[in-house]
Amino acid sequence: MSGTPAAGGRRVAPLEIEPESFRRLGYRLVDRIAELLASLADRPVCRDEPPAAVAALVDRPLPERGGAPEALLEEAADLLFDHSLFNGHPRFGGYITSSPAPIGALADLLAGAVNANVAGWRLSPMATEIERVTLRWIGELLGLPAGSGGLLVSGGNQANFVGFWAARAARAPWEIRRDGVAAAGAPPLAVYASAETHTWIQKAADLSGLGTEAVRFVPVDRRQRMRVDLLARRIDDDVAAGVRPLLVVGTAGSVATGAVDPLPEIARLARERGLWFHVDGAYGGFAALAPGADPALAAIGEADSVAVDPHKWLYAPLEAGCALVRDPAHLLGAFSYRPSYYQLEEEGINFFEYGPQNSRGFRALKVWLALRQAGREGYRRMIGDDIALARALFERVGATRELEPLTCNLSITTFRYVPDDLAPLAAEEETARYLDRLNEELNERLERGGEWFVSNAVIDGRYALRCCIVNFRTSLADVEALPEIVVRHGRELDRELRRAAAAT
Ligand SMILES: *Cc1c(COP(=O)(O)O)cnc(C)c1O
Repeated sequence: MSGTPAAGGRRVAPLEIEPESFRRLGYRLVDRIAELLASLADRPVCRDEPPAAVAALVDRPLPERGGAPEALLEEAADLLFDHSLFNGHPRFGGYITSSPAPIGALADLLAGAVNANVAGWRLSPMATEIERVTLRWIGELLGLPAGSGGLLVSGGNQANFVGFWAARAARAPWEIRRDGVAAAGAPPLAVYASAETHTWIQKAADLSGLGTEAVRFVPVDRRQRMRVDLLARRIDDDVAAGVRPLLVVGTAGSVATGAVDPLPEIARLARERGLWFHVDGAYGGFAALAPGADPALAAIGEADSVAVDPHKWLYAPLEAGCALVRDPAHLLGAFSYRPSYYQLEEEGINFFEYGPQNSRGFRALKVWLALRQAGREGYRRMIGDDIALARALFERVGATRELEPLTCNLSITTFRYVPDDLAPLAAEEETARYLDRLNEELNERLERGGEWFVSNAVIDGRYALRCCIVNFRTSLADVEALPEIVVRHGRELDRELRRAAAAT
């Protein structure tokens, strides 16, 4: 009979796993993961299954009685191995999701076992120090000055929010944390970002109470980079109208095409006009490491705050984002409250004071270990290779008759499929519409096909296929295989669409 554990008796809780069993289960699971990693290239990147079919595999009632962990772990591995999209596959180039470093998977196991709560130093002495060192190293990789600091968060969105909130607290000329954005006599606030900025900016403006209308989307040039002349004009217009400019966001690698804003010019303007300079380097920040990636990236070091994503170009398994500020006191200024129920270690860092989270997992371990495994040199090589492969793809696409290359920045190459006979007519309205539709359906077909996963971008209103290589497993052979796959599916789809149009 269960119930109150007998005094002095040994309690065996339903979740306990005895050491011998734990060993057996763990070895078995690690064996299965090793098999998965060894077989990735031979598997489809993903399977073409509708949501209902996947849902049906797990839709069952919450069990009243528990089950044996052996069977549960076996089944979980089967379900995941057979019904997942593998972003660690050498032919995955969609969105901006990296191939996860295997050491990160092991690190997560270790972090989960120790279960450090990296909210306060006393709760997590070694984990806190590992996070602190990891942040220092990331700051060095980005060229931030010594003394900058920050924290790890769930991803790029959160990291950008942290920079945004730091700017809001630091640059609003009243006590905005206490009195809010609608304080008596407070001027309206404005923030500036390129039209290509990721949607985090809307969420940040919304959640921080500024409202999305406070975001001034500055137009981009033909290379998708912010027009700094128009930025300056917009700031001047706002000031003349009694609006208070708060911060300007420079994007270091836009999500659609990898465009890097003119960061040195933005930094200079921000300094002149007293705006906070935030860099969204969620995708491209770490390319600052690769010589020749884009010289504008050197100006990341001038930012007041930077968001980067270790779960992108440091290849950490999800989740790991990172917010850094030139002066960490600004994070305390934006987030710190000191409740009576925490007894703090005054000499150590208490990360809960530096960001929105309270309890915090040990995300730093996987990042720290990967940085140590590869070293600066290893990362420089991996990121440089990713960029070189994207350029090789751009060239191959340019040399392939029915493919039209569009952009190539950092490790993102965009292009589209244009049937031979339509190429001369591509500028005509009706053909342009058809090409958009053809490429949209082609993208869908490629994503379901499982041979090579790319995603899409809309560039100057045109629908494009988009390959983003943040993948240390992709080889030149993988890249060389892509044009043929796209053309094969493109021809087939074009034939089908024309046949269907002729039939109606
Ligand atoms: C990916 C990305 C984000 C969002 O990051 P998450 O990790 O998905 O939250 C923001 N900005 C840019 C430029 C990105 O590439």
